[in-house]
Amino acid sequence: MRKPIIAANWKLNKGPSDTEDFIQSFESKLNDLPKGVDIVLAPPYISLPKATELLAHSRVRVAAQNMSEQDSGAYTGEISALMLKEVFVNYVILGHSERRAIYGESDALINAKVLKAHDLELRPIFCIGETLQEREDGKLEDVLRTQITDGLKDVSEKQMLDTVIAYEPVWAIGTGVTASPQQAQDAHEFVRSVLTDLYGVSVSEKVRIQYGGSVKPDNAKELLGQKDIDGALVGGAGLEVSSFADIIRNGVGE
Ligand code: PEP
Repeated sequence: MRKPIIAANWKLNKGPSDTEDFIQSFESKLNDLPKGVDIVLAPPYISLPKATELLAHSRVRVAAQNMSEQDSGAYTGEISALMLKEVFVNYVILGHSERRAIYGESDALINAKVLKAHDLELRPIFCIGETLQEREDGKLEDVLRTQITDGLKDVSEKQMLDTVIAYEPVWAIGTGVTASPQQAQDAHEFVRSVLTDLYGVSVSEKVRIQYGGSVKPDNAKELLGQKDIDGALVGGAGLEVSSFADIIRNGVGE
């Protein structure tokens, strides 16, 4: 049985002060939320120390939204895995479609980041997903297979068990358009079958695969009710305490 994992990706929103407001309000609701779920918040870098300090004794975990594949040196604007560990970050989102599309991150670069994260015992939330054009051209499975095979190259079985995959169809991110539960389930089942090819069934059955793309309180139950959907990566609806809490409540049940 895979434990669901629900994460809020705040993107370029919420500095330290808004982060504190959110966490204080969210923590006051935590006792009323289901227990059998991992909850993760991903603030921008500048807010990570505030988040981990406030959540030091909480069951809520903290993710960075990105990191460098390098350890140190002349890489202006970058943050290393070691720096994230120093401020007690637990997870790191890697390969988000915005990083791929806007900042040109390749599968090879994302792979280097995934391996670096594992070296430092940070758990990657490894994002994959197709564009609308790719889906309409019938390339969904090819795109996902390539992203998985190249992005997870040299990841060991043990590391794979500590990797979360987020399937996020690009056309559903921030658009209000959600994949239907069946479309999402079909893609998740395919992702798991690729993991089975690469790692065998005993590993693939344990890997958690989140769905991301316009997850809201009113669609969380149906999406997370699908057999191969083990949680959600939430953008817009993760910025408000009430909608994020409702996604957790509706998605996981009591
Ligand atoms: C995301 O950015 O990962 C995401 C899923 O965003 P949204 O929920 O706003 O579509």
